[in-house]
Amino acid sequence: MGPIRMVVPQVPGADAKPVSEAHRTGTAEIRFLDAAGRPVGRKRKVAVPPPPCLEAPASGGAIGHEAANPLIAFMTRLPEGATTFRLDQPGRDSILAAVRATASPRPTRPKSRRRFGSANARFVLAILAERYDQEAAFHADCASLLAAIEATPPFNEVPGRVAVEALYWKTDPAKGQLGPLQFGTGTDLLFGDRALAAAFLKKSGAKAHRAVVLVNIRRRGGAGGTSQFPAWVSNESSATDSWQSVAIHELGHAFGLGDEYDSANPEAPPGIEPNISASPDPAHSPWAHLCTHHAPAPTAPFGGGATLPPGTVGTFQGARYDAQRFYRAQFACLMRSTRDPFCARCREIIRGKLS
Ligand SMILES: [Zn+2]
Ligand SMILES: [Zn+2]
Repeated sequence: MGPIRMVVPQVPGADAKPVSEAHRTGTAEIRFLDAAGRPVGRKRKVAVPPPPCLEAPASGGAIGHEAANPLIAFMTRLPEGATTFRLDQPGRDSILAAVRATASPRPTRPKSRRRFGSANARFVLAILAERYDQEAAFHADCASLLAAIEATPPFNEVPGRVAVEALYWKTDPAKGQLGPLQFGTGTDLLFGDRALAAAFLKKSGAKAHRAVVLVNIRRRGGAGGTSQFPAWVSNESSATDSWQSVAIHELGHAFGLGDEYDSANPEAPPGIEPNISASPDPAHSPWAHLCTHHAPAPTAPFGGGATLPPGTVGTFQGARYDAQRFYRAQFACLMRSTRDPFCARCREIIRGKLS
């Protein structure tokens, strides 16, 4: 048997501080044990990665970031007779885990692939099934996501430009196959093994602009993706917003939109997106041509603007993970809250890429 990939969630620190403070990157020690609990093979050290800080939906449509306990993943050959292993790290409880339950599955091709939407769509969103054992239920969720996208301005103006590529793997609804799920504490963060999800996506051969793992679980949540890693969304809505809107926010990133919320992101990417301005003067914003407010000062200071007419376009202070430095075009936008539609500037950018 060749090397296998093992993956185990790091347990919270004994001092119960937030992950970002308590975490020390470093190494953990692995010891394999046989069925009687006796050590087999050599001790070995594995790297503990830094905690990923991921975008997550939060209550009332807000979007935030949360640092999560990292998954410790390592390739290993199993010593003869190994059935469990113990992982030790300074300052944390030991983890004892069964080898079989911890080994990552090898990426396989999906059981089925089905395109929802036009074969000539400009934008393709790949959806990976996780914890679904009914193909029809997964397809119903993919169809409902595409319907939600097509009902969202500006996608409703040019139908047929976005398609959903449904990648179905049948898995145990209690376990799935993309690693142990982790949940947030201050947000609705929900995600599994990001590297494994990326490997399954690659194995599928699907060509997509963005990918989302759709988790069939009765708990609302999700996690932002990147061009490298799929995002995560559960198919459970909250009292204030639908799960589809969490996925459509993610789709907004595929169109080059930046986040318009102001809660901090310690891993903010460099640069500035076309729906964000660093200038308080509407005339110097990238959306000057859309502005209805022209005074050379912020249209609304941080926290303000709620009482302006809904169509007001100008410079609203607070965007891109910062309450002071950056401005957005309108009071409300889906890139700021999953309760709201896209703002006029974001609609314009998406429209430009669809036409
Ligand atoms: Zn975002
Ligand atoms: Zn916007």
